[in-house]
Amino acid sequence: MKKIAILGSTGSIGTQTLEIVEENKDLIVTGLAAGSNVELMEKQIRQFKPALAAMWSGEAAADLKRRVADLPVKVVCGMEGLLEIATMPEAEILVTAIVGMIGIRPTIAAIESGKDIALANKETLVTAGHIIMPLAEKCGVRILPVDSEHSAIFQSLNGEAGNEIEKIILTASGGPFRGKKTEELKKMKVEDALKHPNWSMGRKITIDSATLVNKGLEVMEAKWLFDVDLSEIQVVVHPQSIIHSAVQYRDGGIIAQLGMPDMKLPIQYALFYPERRPMNTKRVDFFELGQMTFEKPDMDTFTGLKLAYQAARTGGSMPTVFNAANEKAVSLFLDRKISFLQIPQLIEASMEHHRLIENPGVEEILQAEAETYEFIQSAVSDFIIR
Ligand code: NDP
Ligand code: MG
Repeated sequence: MKKIAILGSTGSIGTQTLEIVEENKDLIVTGLAAGSNVELMEKQIRQFKPALAAMWSGEAAADLKRRVADLPVKVVCGMEGLLEIATMPEAEILVTAIVGMIGIRPTIAAIESGKDIALANKETLVTAGHIIMPLAEKCGVRILPVDSEHSAIFQSLNGEAGNEIEKIILTASGGPFRGKKTEELKKMKVEDALKHPNWSMGRKITIDSATLVNKGLEVMEAKWLFDVDLSEIQVVVHPQSIIHSAVQYRDGGIIAQLGMPDMKLPIQYALFYPERRPMNTKRVDFFELGQMTFEKPDMDTFTGLKLAYQAARTGGSMPTVFNAANEKAVSLFLDRKISFLQIPQLIEASMEHHRLIENPGVEEILQAEAETYEFIQSAVSDFIIR
């Protein structure tokens, strides 16, 4: 029996994690947390019977409490609620499928209470990787990547301990706007950006894939997870999304992980590592696929990736500013308050405005996030599309 708690159970990764629970009877759900989707949370509680459930707002939690009054589940809310789920003694592994850097404090708390982390919530590692990775080592817990590229790298590192890596090849689909130029991007609407060619994901990460900010976040995620220099990470656009990423060793040999674009494999791999369980999903048919192609990422058009490298090279609090500005800008774009190209423009303006903190603690990271939000709020009214 393996006992898991999930932050973000009503989202894309969260619901797929619960599908894996349905298919593997030795997985037990001890706690579930979500933002506002009370209806789905009620269904999940009735089906998976966790001891603890959290909703972000007090109002949503009160509604949930009424709905599940017939069940022996405790309902909590807010950051306290997330922390309670993250640290509940019954759970062995925490799936961080929440979106955004709100995951920082619960992830740290879970590590401190000895839980392994199945990490989907990349924003947490991007902004607090310098705190989380050493802490996980100190506490003897594993950070098991769920992000498909990082799972592929993790799988490609199996059995290679002690062998020097030459580079990590981080693949990217290129998103829905691959091949487009700045003039065309100016006209792109929310509906266009939400049409990802290969993956079905939550709204925020789908927009991040369209701007290539997602790949930028993943470069930083890889740097922390695998302790490599930025110069050792190469982003390769591979529109078919079959090679999920690869590792090149010093003899020139490349080990890659391939599969259909389906998040259930990396989620399940993280939950059962190092065991591979059966999985009833579509297989790669090389004859049907015909060919795999590769391109350089166009960083002049998709400046989000260029800015991510810049933030990563600067280090300190700059990745936090990059990430926080992106979170805010994406939410403004989804609310149709700014245009698609204003997302990287707001990130750049926020990074230029920021006064760097070299080695920020959690409070300083959260402070930098709040300041970035404030800056964007004040800048956005007179922000001009360049
Ligand atoms: P979704 O938007 O689909 O889901 C987000 C989840 O987080 C929902 O359950 C949502 O609850 C919950 N949530 C949001 N805010 C809060 C809050 N304040 N308190 C508690 N719960 C909250 O996102 P995804 O599943 O797509 O992504 C989750 C993470 O995984 C992200 O970091 C993303 O980058 C990463 N990831 C996702 C992939 C994918 O295929 N989707 C692939 C690789 C990484 P509610 O809906 O009830 O508001
Ligand atoms: Mg990914």
